[in-house]
Amino acid sequence: MSAAENTPAAEGGEAIVQHACTRRRRWGAPELERLTAMVEQESLFYWDAPQTNELLRRFRELYPLEHCMPCSSGSASLHIAVAALQLPPGSEVIVPAITDMGSVIGILYQQLVPVFADVDPLTGNLDVSDAAGRITPQTKAIMPVHLAGNPCDMAAVMALAGEHGLAVIEDCAQAWGATWQGEKVGLQGDLACYSFNEFKHLSCGDGGIVGTNREDLGRGLSKWGDKHYDRVAGGRNPPTLSPNYRISEPQSAVAAGQLTRHDVIVARRQEMGRRLAAALAALPGLEVPAETPGGESSFWFLLPQVVPGAVRISRDEFARALQAEGVQGQGAYIPSPVPGYDVFQNHDFFAGRWPLREAGLTSMDYRKQHFPQAERLLARNLTVLLHEEMSDRYLEEVIAAFTKLLRYYAA
Ligand SMILES: *Cc1c(COP(=O)(O)O)cnc(C)c1O
Repeated sequence: MSAAENTPAAEGGEAIVQHACTRRRRWGAPELERLTAMVEQESLFYWDAPQTNELLRRFRELYPLEHCMPCSSGSASLHIAVAALQLPPGSEVIVPAITDMGSVIGILYQQLVPVFADVDPLTGNLDVSDAAGRITPQTKAIMPVHLAGNPCDMAAVMALAGEHGLAVIEDCAQAWGATWQGEKVGLQGDLACYSFNEFKHLSCGDGGIVGTNREDLGRGLSKWGDKHYDRVAGGRNPPTLSPNYRISEPQSAVAAGQLTRHDVIVARRQEMGRRLAAALAALPGLEVPAETPGGESSFWFLLPQVVPGAVRISRDEFARALQAEGVQGQGAYIPSPVPGYDVFQNHDFFAGRWPLREAGLTSMDYRKQHFPQAERLLARNLTVLLHEEMSDRYLEEVIAAFTKLLRYYAA
């Protein structure tokens, strides 16, 4: 290599990446076919409608869940799942300290208490033994999040849930197509939630779906996202409160089209993810989470960690140097564990107050909590983006960029 090639682009050298995918084509014939059929319709309302029914049919082919409610977002799907459990106010739901706000928003709106648990130091998935230590008589549910597409150890989650009678809500927003013991994620727990937001494997702009095979939860599932109106019996006399989280036919049309791409997208991401993970794991100075034994990741992104002391620059500087080489990604996946966000530190859930705590229904204080593994992971991790249209040459360049920077900045 010449001097210019050895010098990081961040310091005036030549950038490594020449084959980034500059135009990602995510929509085409399958989506257009559904949208074209849709414009002939008289109504775009979701209930018993052609596009939404087709979305449900295709979804169930991939995810055999008897009762499903397609809805406006992944966060909505999680809120519907939590609401359907009808837990008394003050009940506790265990969630991992590293996740998206969408996991916890519905819990708080239902006047329940998110109880954060620490995570595996490499995968960032729920640490089930840490979760076990946080169970109280108020604990009624647990929400494993399959982070970055890598499945949680569902055997451990289900064993803990069985022991304490907890409902299991699987947050599969990042894990379309991931499997646990040969079965897709979402099929092990009581309720499964998926997202079609712009940044996920499959997108209809915004959308989501929640499903269950439990008859008792499934029968009224749609009501929890549809003002609690009864679309089967008709009439207007909702017995309880529910938001409007309905999907609509344009979103369903695009989402149904996207589902035809599910297997191809997942297979390509797995091929890329495994190749990249193996190559990066072989480099000195990096640690790369393995796919959870017993499961298969669908690689939403990769979370390698910079080993402390391996390089003489900070993680954030290293992340910027990677970006300067043309690698798509960033440093920390999120700036802090979720309970470290202002909203939790100030208990500012309802106009600066938390009625649940004022009413004595919880004594939770998010200011007093620490999640050493989550904090350590977020201090070290790099977030390397993947998508199915990135070329093999780009992947080689990503590996070359890591190799170059680790060598140049070696401590
Ligand atoms: C994206 C995401 C959500 C929320 O999905 P939206 O469609 O953006 O509301 C929830 N949980 C996790 C883990 C996510 O990544």
